[in-house]
Order: sequence, then C-alpha cells, then structure tokens
Amino acid sequence: MKKLVLATSNRGKVIEMQPLLSDIGYTIITQTELGVSDAIEDGHTFVENALIKARHASASTGLPAIADDSGLIIDALNGAPGLISAHYAGVHGDAKGNIAKVLAELKGIPKEQRSARFYSLIVMLKHADDPQPLIAEGIWEGEILESPRGENGFGYDPIFFVREHQCSAAELSADIKNHISHRGRALLKLRELLNARINS
Ligand code: IMP
Repeated sequence: MKKLVLATSNRGKVIEMQPLLSDIGYTIITQTELGVSDAIEDGHTFVENALIKARHASASTGLPAIADDSGLIIDALNGAPGLISAHYAGVHGDAKGNIAKVLAELKGIPKEQRSARFYSLIVMLKHADDPQPLIAEGIWEGEILESPRGENGFGYDPIFFVREHQCSAAELSADIKNHISHRGRALLKLRELLNARINS
C-alpha cells in the first residue's frame, strides 16, 4: 500500500485522525515516527498553516502528506484564541494554561454570549510542489462552559459544551467525537474529494 505522512506531532490529533484515515488506501505514518520536526506555522489563516505543515512533511520525507490546522473560535473574544489556540497562554500545548486563560477572560459573561466553534482545515498534498492540494474544512458549533468537565479528548475539550449531547467534548467517547467534530467532518469531506479525484 502507498504511504502517506500525517503532518502533526499532536498525539490527540493522531489518535483521532488515524482511524478515520484507515481505509483511504494509504498506510498512514506520523511525522514523529519519521523524525520530521514541527514546521514553523507563520501563516495568517488556517489554510496557510495547514499547507505549510503538509508541504514541510512532504518535502522532508518525499511522501504525500496530510495536515490539519485547527483551533477554537470564541465570539465574545472576537474570535480568539483562533490561530494561536495551541499556545494561547504562552507555552505550546499547555492545555490547562490555555483553558485557564479562556475561563478568566470569559468570567462574568452569561451563557447566551458564550458561543464558540471548533474549526478544522485539512489539506492533502501528493508531493511538496503539488499545485492542486485537496482542501476540506469542518466546523463544530458549541459554547464555552464556566468550568472544565470530563477527561477524554485533548486541548479545550473539557470546556467545550456540545449542545446535541448536553455534555462537554471531553465527556464524549472518541467514537462519538469523531462522528460530529470539526476534524471528523473535515476528514469526511476530504475522503469525498479524494474519491472524486480517483474516479475522475
Ligand atoms: P494546531 O492545529 O496544531 O496549530 O493546534 C490546534 C489547537 O487547537 C490544539 O492544540 C488545541 O489547543 C485546539 N484544538 C484543535 N482541535 C481541538 C479539539 O478537537 N479539541 C480541543 N482542542 C482542539
């Protein structure tokens, strides 16, 4: 089977994305397994950063690559943490610090003004110079809780309230999260694009 590199070193994302990519006709290898460093994400949009990550992984390995750039967008904070979701409190991947910062900034804001969404932008490149990347986005609407709940998932999941299940994203099983999340939806679209291209 053809190999494809998953351009992320975020374990939470790897755990979510691997099963969803298991039947697209590629063997998925993470960039960490291949010794690829993290790319410098200096784009101004999710799509730019996803392309930077995929291009970097593909150039470093010579393999096709898939990358996701994602984040949490909170209306009452004018869209923050947005592009800097991973290091909102200063240190990359400090989920507890990021959550504490968001909760402090939303202190006193009532429930009806705590709307938010997760956004995921996924790209697939056949090679580092591929001029025709596959690009798919997914959006997951919710609201920000006043305190963390649940142990599953990663990042901001404990403070993201999922209306359709009346619980936090960290209280969902991995399976349910994958079905309804921003990343799950984006991956589904990506698979459709891939199938359409293969069959065209
Ligand atoms: P990046 O895409 O690697 O730049 O980082 C995205 C960041 O957004 C993660 O480190 C998390 O803080 C946050 N994030 C993205 N998707 C999720 C999710 O499914 N649950 C919780 N946090 C997420």
